[in-house]
Amino acid sequence: MKLARFDNGRIGVVAGSQIVDVTEALGLDPDEWPPVAPVRLISDFDRLRPVLEQAAATGTPVPLSEVTLRTPVPWPNKVVAFPVNYHAHGAEMGAGYRATNQGFFLKPNSSLSGAGEPVVLPDLPGREVHHESELAIVIGKTARDVSRADWRDYVFGYACLLDMVVRGREERVARKAYDTFCPVGPWITTAEDVPNPESLRMQLWVDDELRQDANTRDLVLDIPGMIEMASAVMTLYPGDIIATGTPEGVGPVAGGSKIRIAIDHCGEMNVDVVQGKGGKAEMFAEPYQLVKKA
Ligand code: MN
Repeated sequence: MKLARFDNGRIGVVAGSQIVDVTEALGLDPDEWPPVAPVRLISDFDRLRPVLEQAAATGTPVPLSEVTLRTPVPWPNKVVAFPVNYHAHGAEMGAGYRATNQGFFLKPNSSLSGAGEPVVLPDLPGREVHHESELAIVIGKTARDVSRADWRDYVFGYACLLDMVVRGREERVARKAYDTFCPVGPWITTAEDVPNPESLRMQLWVDDELRQDANTRDLVLDIPGMIEMASAVMTLYPGDIIATGTPEGVGPVAGGSKIRIAIDHCGEMNVDVVQGKGGKAEMFAEPYQLVKKA
């Protein structure tokens, strides 16, 4: 099943190029604040699935082109992100560490955006903002101290994710925290429709130039390992998102760029980049140029 959030926070089931609105059938209020309906839906999914399937089968489909896709889970408990989790990306960054011994960081929930919303670049002369293509894991059940063998029990689904970043030496979280620096989408594909998440091709283009082309089989810390590590430290809650790390080929985008990310079984997401006027910060006053290693 492909579960999308669209327009003002409505929930829909995607089939082909169409979407069926199931908001009323689920008794959800799209205008509630904070917007936690998707978290409750994921938490209660086993009970709600029949209602959802019935509504999807009987509702009126609308072309996806007529809706604006939003981020599927706008108010998770947290977004966990693993740095340097492909060897070739570690090499291009000249990083001596890997996710296996470095662990993870968090991105703020306020950086989440959707497939139908642009990435807004901060006004930072002398700085590059880079794309990082990543597979997103959406957690389905409360998880603590999960063993490698049990990881599948805790996954709700998967999606495409862009971990946008201002390059530099400042605190990683600050460089990755701008609003719209974490597009997720185009929707969540539930786990039963992603038969082997440990072998998914992932590609990213900027203006039709292929920049990243990798496979999740090359992850350094694999999916069971990420769930084991994160849940050893923190309780993971339904709706929590794990950004699994980017492969080689990261690079800059500019206002007017169009980013396309595609992952097997997860669909593809086309995100426009626009240059914003705000976002200046003292920490980014000095110019920085990333020099990629071999
Ligand atoms: Mn990343």
